[in-house]
Amino acid sequence: MKIRNKTIKEILLKYRKIDSLKRLISLAGWDLNVYMPQKAVEDRAFIISEVELQIKNLILDKSFIKLVNEVKENNLNIYEKAIIRVLKREIGYLQKLPSSFIEEFSKITNKAQVVWREAKDRNDFSVFKPYLEKIVYLVKKEVEYLGYKEHPYDALIDLYEEGWTTKDFEDFFSFVKPRLKDIFFKVFNSKYFIDKHPLEKEKYNKEKMEKLNLRVLKILNFDNQRSRLDIAPHPFEQSISLNDVRITTWYHKNDFKRSLSATIHEFGHLLYETNIDSKLKFTPLQAGISYAFHESSSRFWENVIAKNEIFLRKIWPLALKYLDFLKKYKFKDFVTYFNLVKPSLIRVEADEITYHFHIILRFEIEKMLLEDKIKIEELPEYWNEKVKEYLGLRVDSYRDGILQDIHWSMGAFGYFPTYSLGTFLSGLWLESIENDLGDINNLLKQKDGILTIQNWFKDKIYRFGRTYSSKELIYKITKKGFSPQPFINYLDSKYIKI
Ligand code: MG
Repeated sequence: MKIRNKTIKEILLKYRKIDSLKRLISLAGWDLNVYMPQKAVEDRAFIISEVELQIKNLILDKSFIKLVNEVKENNLNIYEKAIIRVLKREIGYLQKLPSSFIEEFSKITNKAQVVWREAKDRNDFSVFKPYLEKIVYLVKKEVEYLGYKEHPYDALIDLYEEGWTTKDFEDFFSFVKPRLKDIFFKVFNSKYFIDKHPLEKEKYNKEKMEKLNLRVLKILNFDNQRSRLDIAPHPFEQSISLNDVRITTWYHKNDFKRSLSATIHEFGHLLYETNIDSKLKFTPLQAGISYAFHESSSRFWENVIAKNEIFLRKIWPLALKYLDFLKKYKFKDFVTYFNLVKPSLIRVEADEITYHFHIILRFEIEKMLLEDKIKIEELPEYWNEKVKEYLGLRVDSYRDGILQDIHWSMGAFGYFPTYSLGTFLSGLWLESIENDLGDINNLLKQKDGILTIQNWFKDKIYRFGRTYSSKELIYKITKKGFSPQPFINYLDSKYIKI
């Protein structure tokens, strides 16, 4: 990255302060979830919101905005263009939303997250209902502030996935829905179908499981000089700086796949952040492109790689070493355990095929809410009907139904669709890797196969940070734009042709 433009040089100098404050917030956020004493919740929230206000003031500082607007966009190189694009987006977002609105929104969503947890514990939707009503009301207001061309939902989707629209996702989901149903139906009716596995019940030793996770991460080239693995109530990845990217995982008493899969999933996020070109350090471009791009990396490593039989063969001796009960099982059991297809009421527990019905349901509900086609009180019933239709399951509690996810209590509407998009992008990357480097199974059999695949990701995606927009980079890689077909092909060859 060469910055020649004088004004942009000045902008980047000022931006370092903004970037540093953001990174300290990341560290505080990581600590909040990993080490912070419980009673510090309110103090920490106050500290973070004060620093966030400082960041906002620095971004909306008149002299800063003036510099950004001053830059003439002809004659800029791709990095310079991207810096201006990303900053204008950030400034625009903060300018469009009045401070009073941001304050009200954060007040209600902070409270709503606590109420949601309580409602979920008590399995009582009525406790959360008034908050959800208020949040949906505010989200509609937010949409009006932000503006949109075709559909109000576009304004929200764009927050998570720049340039993507309701129409894009409608096309995407209507393409994949019948195909996923078809694959699921075939798997379900196959004589190999099992949805329960004895390994799920096996209890493991936490310390040994921790060692196994670290050994598997080492196979994936995890660098413990630049990264850490810790424990959190819900696994996540946090990038503090280019050389300090941290991940967390969880340990239940049994079902070791949950711990290992979460570790590898978060590792996929880590790999993205640690491989951004160091020349982008401390600039607005030092981050993953978007939610879906990040998720495409995490899902690729969690599913396409870590559930592949050849990869599982590599880690089998380690698993045998740290998980005593595995001695009773064969390698084949290990493989089927990692690749179970299991329609579940819970989104986060769903398999590679049925997962997307959970997302389609949420997408449809969010869209209907914005179109005023459904009332909050009608949501639980609608939810349950759709779960029956899509997954063939009966919902018997709010907890495992409408109340299962935290997102709506945070006011995060438009977020869910990026999970599916990310997964389907991972299929697109698989296809591109096979075009460029050959069959993935052959690659995994090679000594440095994993590194070769990681270098592909680094070269094609990671190193650019936010230099390109999501649609631009998809086009640059595939030369033809987004297609959900490769992921369908992947599922087909994995689950149907067994
Ligand atoms: Mg993720």
